[in-house]
Amino acid sequence: MTNYDYGLFVIGAGSGGVRAARMAAGMGVRVAIAENRYFGGTCVNVGCVPKKLFVYASHFHEDFRAAKGFGWTVGGAQFDWPRLLANKNQEINRLQGIYENLLDNAGVTIYEGQASLVDAHTVRVGDQQYRCGRILIATGGWPAIPDMPGKEHIVSSNEMFALEVLPKRILIVGGGYIAVEFAGIMHGLGVETTLCYRGDKLLRGFDEDIRDFVVQEMRKKGIDILLNTQINAIAKTASGFTAQTEEGTTLDADLVLYATGRAPNIAGLGLEALGVELGESGAIKVNESYQTNIPSIYALGDVTHRINLTPVATAEAMALVNGLYSDKRTPVDYDNIPTAVFCQPNVGTVGLTETEARKRFDDIAVFKSVFTPMKHTLSGLGEKTLMKMIVRRSTDKVLGIHMVGADAGEIIQGMAVAIRAGATKAVFDSTIGIHPTAAEEFVTMRKPVD
Ligand code: FAD
Ligand code: NDP
Repeated sequence: MTNYDYGLFVIGAGSGGVRAARMAAGMGVRVAIAENRYFGGTCVNVGCVPKKLFVYASHFHEDFRAAKGFGWTVGGAQFDWPRLLANKNQEINRLQGIYENLLDNAGVTIYEGQASLVDAHTVRVGDQQYRCGRILIATGGWPAIPDMPGKEHIVSSNEMFALEVLPKRILIVGGGYIAVEFAGIMHGLGVETTLCYRGDKLLRGFDEDIRDFVVQEMRKKGIDILLNTQINAIAKTASGFTAQTEEGTTLDADLVLYATGRAPNIAGLGLEALGVELGESGAIKVNESYQTNIPSIYALGDVTHRINLTPVATAEAMALVNGLYSDKRTPVDYDNIPTAVFCQPNVGTVGLTETEARKRFDDIAVFKSVFTPMKHTLSGLGEKTLMKMIVRRSTDKVLGIHMVGADAGEIIQGMAVAIRAGATKAVFDSTIGIHPTAAEEFVTMRKPVD
């Protein structure tokens, strides 16, 4: 039998890699992990966590305005970007330490450096090589910015977490998660914000009503949203940058953020030389056991470019490690994965959109409610909430639940449990509401609109 240095060598200490390494080590496997940038990966350092902290920071702006309607006078509110950045960095450093400690305490050997594959059983970090029974690639993704004149003037979401100065005006390009989330953050922090998207509705893939409603609410708050607008070039000006649109107009800003998707992070891994099969955008192809075409090499998380969310990467890690090193089988069910977009107001969604449901079944009932949530009866902000449920008439099963409104992410998490449990509309109807909440609307929607 071959003598390996490690039973499992994990490349990338992000959401998926850390979970896989810790769990495998806990099962008695000799595990090593390599990380070349930051413990905790994208989510902890330039993703979910700092993003959500920024969302909280940006919301105070509205909260101060809303306070007036409730009798408060808030005087002289000032925002200090360097302080937010410093506090955010302190929290991220704390989390990095926790991740490193978790690995250490689990007995995982940590290598700080860029790892690459030498062959099907050998990983190189720096000038050292390690023989491994299995190799797991969990190297995540990286911002993808289209090639165009002036590309060098653009920042990605990565840089947004370390800006020395908050711009006065920002142009954000893209219409997905990151673009709409940063539009809300920047606007809330007092930056004049223009969001520019090539299509006719933001958030492709989400329910059509949600997409319409999000644009409406974001515009109401004062975000300038330009749809059907493609940018061809960016140039530097004396005071900032100017973007040239396909229609021949120009847009001026102090900062240009491109949030045009992320690509699998495979640079320098040596996958091509080894013959690891890749998909269209460089995504590592894996089977249902996260195994590549080379049996000792596995991949999961964003580098496989499927559903790029932290809880999916960690669920995949658990499925892989349980499958390899235990009798337990915990396969990931890719249906009904809930997700939230932390734009303002939030989007929360689980299950089928109305369009998807109608494609699959011809007996769909749609329940929908648009209302002013109680807080905004006095806030003076005019924010509305949308809630929508998709039900199959013949089975009464709830197929999809969608929401735009405050705390939609928090509310939809519970709805996702109900959908996974196979709840029918009758179950929702017989559930007593919690009053007064917005969420109770989901158990009081009686008449289908369609
Ligand atoms: P990552 O977390 O990206 O980890 C990969 C790690 O591998 C990194 O630490 C990297 O430095 C390291 N690495 C890469 N190459 C090498 C190498 N050759 N050698 C050594 N180390 C290497 N998801 C949510 O669920 N909710 C959110 O709210 C959310 N917000 C987001 C906001 C932003 C701005 C972004 C960009 C993403 C967000 N995501 C969110 C997505 C989430 O961050 C990712 O899905 C998740 O981090 C993927 O985990 P992963 O383990 O696949 O990769
Ligand atoms: P998305 O894939 O969500 O959106 C990319 C956007 O950029 C789309 O609107 C797309 O348009 C547009 N686009 C792509 N290429 C171009 C181009 N060449 N020119 C102009 N526009 C272009 O990616 P994000 O970067 O927003 O986020 C990456 C992923 O990270 C998300 O998909 C999600 O999985 C994860 N994430 C999750 C979050 C959460 O859970 N809250 C938050 C942030 C990120 P079109 O639709 O027309 O293709």
